[in-house]
Amino acid sequence: MARTEKAKPTVEEPQHDQYQALRERLQNQRNEILNMYKQDLRAGQESADDGTEDIVDRANNAYNRELMFSLSDTERTTLLQIENALRRMEEGSYGRCANCGQNIHVLRLEAVPWARFCIDCQELAEKGLLEVEAS
Ligand SMILES: [Zn+2]
Repeated sequence: MARTEKAKPTVEEPQHDQYQALRERLQNQRNEILNMYKQDLRAGQESADDGTEDIVDRANNAYNRELMFSLSDTERTTLLQIENALRRMEEGSYGRCANCGQNIHVLRLEAVPWARFCIDCQELAEKGLLEVEAS
């Protein structure tokens, strides 16, 4: 992750409560995907095993190993992006462009809460002009 500290303070620093709302949105979206997975799993095993609590526990335990195979590509990508965004919130790097270090505009974050790049760098990334991996 290139964290060049040439950030120009031209973009307003998003307020803490705005991040709080974004964090909740990310967590809700993550839970939605995870619940969908658990329901699939439960439906698939219902005839063989009616101990639903156990199945949910097992789903949690097998999280990394099985979850990624059960999700569609889109769900998997979204989930990874959400996990990354939540981790960046923990690290305090959330809301800063992973390429140029500028603050990502809060309107962009509201549209795409897991955005890693500012709008300019996102354009470069989509053209394949960024060194940073664009996931
Ligand atoms: Zn940027």
